[in-house]
Amino acid sequence: MADTKIPVVASFSILGDLVSQVGGDHVTVKDLVGVNGDVHTYSPAPMDAVAVKDAQLVVINGLGLEGWLPRLMESAHFKGIEVVALKGINTLTLAEEGCDQHHSAAKESCDHHNHHHHGVYDPHAWNSVTNVKIYVKNIEAGLMKIDPAHASDYQHNAQAYLQKLDKLQLDIKRQFAKIPASQRVIVTSHDAFQYFSRDYDVTFLAPQGTSTDAEASAADVAKIINQVRDDHVRAVFIENITDNRMIEQISQETGAKIGGKLYSDALSGPNEPASSYIKMMEYNTATISNALK
Ligand SMILES: [Zn+2]
Repeated sequence: MADTKIPVVASFSILGDLVSQVGGDHVTVKDLVGVNGDVHTYSPAPMDAVAVKDAQLVVINGLGLEGWLPRLMESAHFKGIEVVALKGINTLTLAEEGCDQHHSAAKESCDHHNHHHHGVYDPHAWNSVTNVKIYVKNIEAGLMKIDPAHASDYQHNAQAYLQKLDKLQLDIKRQFAKIPASQRVIVTSHDAFQYFSRDYDVTFLAPQGTSTDAEASAADVAKIINQVRDDHVRAVFIENITDNRMIEQISQETGAKIGGKLYSDALSGPNEPASSYIKMMEYNTATISNALK
């Protein structure tokens, strides 16, 4: 007898991949914000309400990343289980860890980030493999609750995927260990990599703050340009979800090269290099470390 698959909604593509890894054949996963999409500024479509209404499980990131989602779930009369994927992680705030560590330039840039920072905590927790291992455990627990008949499959899938994440973590650390810590400073357009910074000791400067809904001011950009010059930052990076003109301007005015494209808040499509979470982390690591060599 064929099994009925469990309908799961994930708020954005990175979570969707994690749900697929743990759920395997027992789930169908719908991402609300698709590949290369911006979860910060998303406007739900009518079909999203239908997907949420029909879902038995909705998996969200949490920490205010999906500001548009509570209203959608309410209007869709969602009756299933909600999993907050990052529940239990060691959170970062902009005002504390993000600003006090590593580098004087990073600390300086944080002063202005606080002006257009909406929440206390940084939601971009998936850019740490340590955190994503907790995401996987939370997703596993949610699936086991909704579908206890397949609990052992979910446990098995999660265990196998956690082993891949352990290997990924080692690979990333090995890559960055080859680069002197003083050279590990780069620029991106929005501040999506503080957890990456904490885990892998790379300092990220970003004119735009932790959400893409606020434009960087001319003063924000000028400040980054000065930091890039003062600190001899080697490379600036475009992102798959943001407007690239600001980064191109910083590159032109400072001579820092554009090191490539980073996948910050969304996976890529199947014909691009970041079509799964593991591929995304591998690609971002290779792109950053190649530019800093
Ligand atoms: Zn973001």
